[in-house]
Amino acid sequence: GLDITWAVDWVRRSAQVIAEHRMELIELDRAIGDGDHGENMDRGFQAVLPKLDDLPAGSTPGDVLKLVATTLISTVGGAAGPLYGTAYLRAATAAGPAVSLGPEELADVLAAARDGIVARGKAEPGDKTMVDAWTPAVDAARDAAEAGEDAATVLDAAADAAERGAVATEPLVARKGRASYLGERAVGHRDPGAESSALLLRAAADSAA
Ligand code: ADP
Ligand code: MG
Ligand code: MG
Repeated sequence: GLDITWAVDWVRRSAQVIAEHRMELIELDRAIGDGDHGENMDRGFQAVLPKLDDLPAGSTPGDVLKLVATTLISTVGGAAGPLYGTAYLRAATAAGPAVSLGPEELADVLAAARDGIVARGKAEPGDKTMVDAWTPAVDAARDAAEAGEDAATVLDAAADAAERGAVATEPLVARKGRASYLGERAVGHRDPGAESSALLLRAAADSAA
């Protein structure tokens, strides 16, 4: 299973990959939103980094997820702050006090995150939001876990599916968030939140590899 070392590494890699893709996320959000998604996400994950050093000995993956949640809620703002905040909070609750997460538990954690985003934002698959990355990721993680794959393979399957899901938002008309104001003009552009979600799930898989 994946333990505190994985969870902390996931957060560090998340901060790094979001920083590396900051401009790309800004450009995506400039096309169909207000251009701040890269900045919002980079601010949030940079704010988590110093707090990782203050985690007490014996902290669990759930503690790390909770720390990410509270930090994103207080620093990211916009639509994505509360959505990701809820996702990580629900993920923390699903992880519970476990010291290490196996394949089935990881699938449960990802499903809880997705359900949190849906509960908060009320988007359905096909609405051109981050839900379009998370939903195939959850399904792929569940399938891989049920097929008896190990934790790293479960996360890799989730990341692959999230990347395909993000690409698949390109031809869609948006029905939630700022992009929904654009109607047909959003067609041909990838949803920035779906892209950041795919980056975060890839970071999770890379930390487990
Ligand atoms: P804002 O639109 O407030 O500037 P961000 O730019 O940080 O916030 O985040 C925009 C992203 O949030 C979108 O690309 C989309 O993925 C996601 N989003 C917006 N509204 C919703 C919603 N109701 N449900 C799920 N995701 C949403
Ligand atoms: Mg924005
Ligand atoms: Mg904004």
